[in-house]
Amino acid sequence: MSATSGDAMRNGVSSPPRTVVTRSSLICSSGKDKYTFDSERAILPIRSVDLQTIETPAEDHESSSSSSVVKRDSVVRRLDVHHSVRVDGRFRNPWTTWTPPSFANILKFGLARDRSRVPPKEDLDLALPMVRPDFRAPPADALSLTWLGHSTLVARFDGISLISDPMFSDRASPSQAVGPKRYRAPPCSVHDLPSDLDAVVISHAHYDHLDRNSVTLLNARFGSDLRWFVPLGLADWMSGVGVENVVELDWWEENCVSDKSDVSFVFTPTQHWSQRTLTDDGHVLWGSWAVVGPTHRFFFAGDTAYCDVFRQIGRMYGPFTAAAIPIGAYEPRWFMRQQHVEPAEAVRIHQDIASRFSLAIHWGTFALANEYFLDPPMKLRAALESAHLEANSFATFLHGETRLVYRDGRVERSKTKDFIL
Ligand code: ZN
Ligand code: ZN
Repeated sequence: MSATSGDAMRNGVSSPPRTVVTRSSLICSSGKDKYTFDSERAILPIRSVDLQTIETPAEDHESSSSSSVVKRDSVVRRLDVHHSVRVDGRFRNPWTTWTPPSFANILKFGLARDRSRVPPKEDLDLALPMVRPDFRAPPADALSLTWLGHSTLVARFDGISLISDPMFSDRASPSQAVGPKRYRAPPCSVHDLPSDLDAVVISHAHYDHLDRNSVTLLNARFGSDLRWFVPLGLADWMSGVGVENVVELDWWEENCVSDKSDVSFVFTPTQHWSQRTLTDDGHVLWGSWAVVGPTHRFFFAGDTAYCDVFRQIGRMYGPFTAAAIPIGAYEPRWFMRQQHVEPAEAVRIHQDIASRFSLAIHWGTFALANEYFLDPPMKLRAALESAHLEANSFATFLHGETRLVYRDGRVERSKTKDFIL
């Protein structure tokens, strides 16, 4: 049995109230947050339903006619979407395409890891050259994207500058002595980032997406001028490392940067998971971000397997001027298909969300799975051809490369191509 927070609301279950934010009631209309402020830190109250508090069977929910908690017209756009589910304090995927990895399979994958697939540095310098990022503000009718390796990128559009899953460390690990080591250095440091950076979006708490050193460096440079949009369950961790300007969101909730209320940051679902210690599996939610401005819309997919939620995201927030979608860490499929897409599935997401141009992320930086390091871009090109899509509608960038994307999907490479390697 499973139930969702939406079910709970319709049945009038006494659980923490869930605020369903509609587009017309956008939060920052006066440059202030709708949610409670605790000095400068804006933390949303937890709204996901802990299933232990639900006493009525889920099958009764739909037929209940006595619901008076939520007016139907205030949730009508959200009834057909998947809400987050938490059981015994741990988030779970609501998708039928998900089964949790067994301990035996994790062990089997660990023992069978092929670590011989990263070539020597000379080959890497030829295959994956690096250019100096161009962080100049784009023209008003364009969105600029700069790839900084793995899932880290800077997007600038509609007067907003954001960075995703900032990762500037050598290792994706709790220790900088052991754990997955990057084979391509970041093309710039936190010091080189644009000084007008407004926001960080975090997709989930895995070490290759939430790096403590990078968070600390960003916080030291930008302080509370930078707003951190994080998944539900992560605010305490952020507070623990000294970050103050944090907005923690459940799936489908949205917020914005103060004084830039015309761009909303919506936390949207993915099929993935989250863990940082042996015992905290599922304590923090996972997801993607739809950043919706007056001229451009940008989608950051984080880590995900393929599931039907992307059609929902496309219906609600598409079309997107641009998206960032993962293409790597997908082999072996018997283990990875639950959590990471392969390039053909990444192309399906690109189509489902109606992205005019997508940047391939989550490849070329860390060897996290068994595929050869250049397979993801090759398979991406083949998948685009099979889907009868233009090769330049979903592209891999050089490390550090910047491109401008216009609303009609036209893409321009940055005029600056200053090779570092
Ligand atoms: Zn992950
Ligand atoms: Zn990852």
